[in-house]
Amino acid sequence: MTESTNTPLSLLAFMAHPSDEAFTIGGTLALYARQGVKVFVVSGTRGEVGEMNPALLKGFNSTGERREWELQCAAKTLALAGVYFLGYRDSGMPGSPDNNHPEAMAAQSVDEAAARAVHFIRMLKPQVVVTHDPIGGYKHPDHIALYRAVTQAFQQASDPVFQDEFPPFKPQKLYYQTIPKDLLRWGVRLAPLRGIDPHHFGRNRDIDLASLVEDGDFPIHAVIDCRSVSAIRDEASACHVSQGGESIGRKGPMAFLRRLFGNTETFMRAYPPPEKGLREKDLFEGVRL
Ligand SMILES: [Zn+2]
Repeated sequence: MTESTNTPLSLLAFMAHPSDEAFTIGGTLALYARQGVKVFVVSGTRGEVGEMNPALLKGFNSTGERREWELQCAAKTLALAGVYFLGYRDSGMPGSPDNNHPEAMAAQSVDEAAARAVHFIRMLKPQVVVTHDPIGGYKHPDHIALYRAVTQAFQQASDPVFQDEFPPFKPQKLYYQTIPKDLLRWGVRLAPLRGIDPHHFGRNRDIDLASLVEDGDFPIHAVIDCRSVSAIRDEASACHVSQGGESIGRKGPMAFLRRLFGNTETFMRAYPPPEKGLREKDLFEGVRL
């Protein structure tokens, strides 16, 4: 890549909404930031149509503004090097009228969204890029749109034909955050015993865990042990008060999942193409400086 020994390691995570960075990969981000890696988050939207207790809007002009503030709080806790926005609008859950808003993330063409993602890859020059998996973790349209955009952008960033304010840059690895489906299968069986309906899961009861097992049985290529930073991850999650982040480790359906998955975060590797049986413990394994 470059010959300079001063070139720092850098990780860029594209996540669709404020809170995704803490709830899904907060341990990984905190871990690498503590190791001196420059960790950046680009959020696809500001979570404009997320659930919001009106009392929490005091001092803010909108839900998006409040959630951006929560993201900045989490970024500080996780010791991120920077937070940026693709500038799209939250599309809401499948079937919601917000899906069709002209600025909705899910209503953009892949080319358009990929061009914005290329800009950040070229500007921030990460060796490792992370985003949502092909079913967007839990089938949120913004997560799926971002997965498609970042997958295309990862290739385009190094293509000199593609024009941007910054010169071409080739990141070395691309990962998709994904939930281990063998554990989730267990969860689907155990949930009813805990009084949780696995077909109507989550704060809005709009997630079918069973369908995630069926449609998203992706291989796990990297397992990151986040035990040493679990308190930081929980503190960052707690910044997202409007999304129930303060109780994520203690009670409710998210706590159930967290206990199920333990203190590990899991990823599928998209690039370089994984060899059979690949199981990494470090997303920077094999990265050259
Ligand atoms: Zn999200």
